[in-house]
Amino acid sequence: ETEIPEDHPRYASLVTRHRIEAGVEQGITSKQGLIAQGRGEAFDYLLGERTLPSADAAARAAAAALLAADHPALSVNGNVAALAPAETVDLAAAVDADLEVNLFNHTDERVRRIADHLRGHGADEVKGLVGDGEIPGLEHARGTVDADGIESADVVVVPLEDGDRAAALDAMGKTEIVIDLNPGSRSPRTADIPIIDNLIRAVPNVTTHARDLADVSPADLRTIVDSFDAEEALTEAEAAIREGEFERSA
Ligand code: ATP
Ligand code: MG
Repeated sequence: ETEIPEDHPRYASLVTRHRIEAGVEQGITSKQGLIAQGRGEAFDYLLGERTLPSADAAARAAAAALLAADHPALSVNGNVAALAPAETVDLAAAVDADLEVNLFNHTDERVRRIADHLRGHGADEVKGLVGDGEIPGLEHARGTVDADGIESADVVVVPLEDGDRAAALDAMGKTEIVIDLNPGSRSPRTADIPIIDNLIRAVPNVTTHARDLADVSPADLRTIVDSFDAEEALTEAEAAIREGEFERSA
């Protein structure tokens, strides 16, 4: 175990990297997950490793959509489980959503390990082990979900979702919330609510907004969701990257 000094200028990034490494060692995260992490880090660096005001607005709209949902579900993959297990369990509890393990590189063993890991962080029920449902339009291995979980959900949160699956979920008519650091990736571009932020910051931020909005009427929640502009959020994130109006810490 290497100790990372807290005053290191890249402390947060190094801790994150370490968690992903540990996830691979524990059989929770796939090796492909390391590559996704590397891409994410690059975009986070360009965004200044902060939550943009437009990402905060997206997190608030996401909280409103989840609270207004009949059946919300959070999709959990190996990177999410390694990086923010407790925060993901908290969010599910705050909005009364299903937690479902859903892997791009599926193995039953890894699904079980992730489910155990989430239970170790306080989850009661974890879905994704049955696989009796499907996302139409995808090959079997990629499209298998639980019938009483993601398949029947009206609002889904998919952090770091692959572009094809994001499009297929959207085609099912679900309200889709994507957390992804790359505003140019297909997944946030197909989302109803793209949150261009590190999932480490975004997941607890959605939970905080959900707690703030807990007593808001369904009609007012609907207004918050409807007034969110996905295109504008993507444009603002791109502009922040292009303009680099932040202090690079290197
Ligand atoms: P596609 O267009 O099919 O989505 P892609 O190029 O986006 O392809 P992915 O496998 O989806 O390929 O890449 C991983 C994505 O996950 C990248 O967009 C990366 O920015 C994002 N990502 C990685 N780590 C994080 C993180 N911690 N928080 C948020 N997003 C992350
Ligand atoms: Mg993507």
